[in-house]
Amino acid sequence: MKIAFLDRDGTLIWEPPETKQVDSIEKLRILPGVVEGLRSLQSDGFDLVLVSNQDGIGSSSFPTESFEAPQKEFLSQLEKEDVTFRSVFICPHKEAEKCSCRKPKTGLVDAFLQEEKVDLAASLMIGDRETDRAFAESIGVRFVSMETNGRFSRFAAEKRKTNETDIEAFVNLDGSGNAEIVTGIGFFDHMLELLAKHALIDLTLKANGDLQVDEHHTVEDTGLVLGSLFSKALGDKRCIERYGFWVPMDEALAYVVVDLSGRPSFVFEGQWKREYVGKLPTELVAHFFESLAQTLKCNLHMKIERGKNEHHKLEALFKGLGRALRQAFRQSPYERGIPSTKGSL
Ligand SMILES: [Mg+2]
Ligand SMILES: [Zn+2]
Repeated sequence: MKIAFLDRDGTLIWEPPETKQVDSIEKLRILPGVVEGLRSLQSDGFDLVLVSNQDGIGSSSFPTESFEAPQKEFLSQLEKEDVTFRSVFICPHKEAEKCSCRKPKTGLVDAFLQEEKVDLAASLMIGDRETDRAFAESIGVRFVSMETNGRFSRFAAEKRKTNETDIEAFVNLDGSGNAEIVTGIGFFDHMLELLAKHALIDLTLKANGDLQVDEHHTVEDTGLVLGSLFSKALGDKRCIERYGFWVPMDEALAYVVVDLSGRPSFVFEGQWKREYVGKLPTELVAHFFESLAQTLKCNLHMKIERGKNEHHKLEALFKGLGRALRQAFRQSPYERGIPSTKGSL
């Protein structure tokens, strides 16, 4: 099983900046994006486990009922939205007590990790503090960083297995451009890393394809997986900027324009002088973008205006798409609801 370990205060609920203590129902505020985010983690197959430090529960500064009332209310509000935790682990100690369960120590989950078969490589820890990051490192899961009291990030996971390819991917649309890509085609990995970097998304993707046949299926299916991964993470596309456009420059000039309209459409203009760049066949480049546009259900227009160096032309396209998606994926504080007169995208 794969687990999303979750910090509570500042990550899922508002943390009062001064006292850092949610000690009454009045102070309970679930942060924006949390309900949708936890629901989509659940539907992607994650079990949710809450891991929280609560300074000195049971002491005069934090009586037990003051913790329990808002906690109970929090769990029941989530339950009404079909979000449930597999386990809830709370450290009630103060730092000075030097217990073995206060994050970043791992005492809260040691027994859980021994008893359950947790797929650590596929699991996550989501939190807003350095102690959460250190906790994630200690138990050996990927850390996803949140801004304290910020909007919960948009995640999705995707798995696709056919006789030709086996692909697994995970995205955080509100990430910082970190990528871990392994497709078996080094140059393609490099291009996807550029895309993630410029889109400001965190992306992990592992593709095991029939490269002994040729690169076609791996490149095509990676495009299909990325498109549906992004589409899933966007959800109902509430508050997104929707459009994106960028013109990268060098001696190569390309443009990439995108509209996350819900309708797939792809137009490409460009010429290649070489059959391969690295181990990536140039004829598959447009095919990759087209596959992505199809499952992302977007309009994607791309053109290589000029360029002498094939590597630069490719970089211009992938960086350009990254920048265009970064603009389009972003949630705007000025947008209210779905940015379409139809009311859906
Ligand atoms: Mg926190
Ligand atoms: Zn403790």
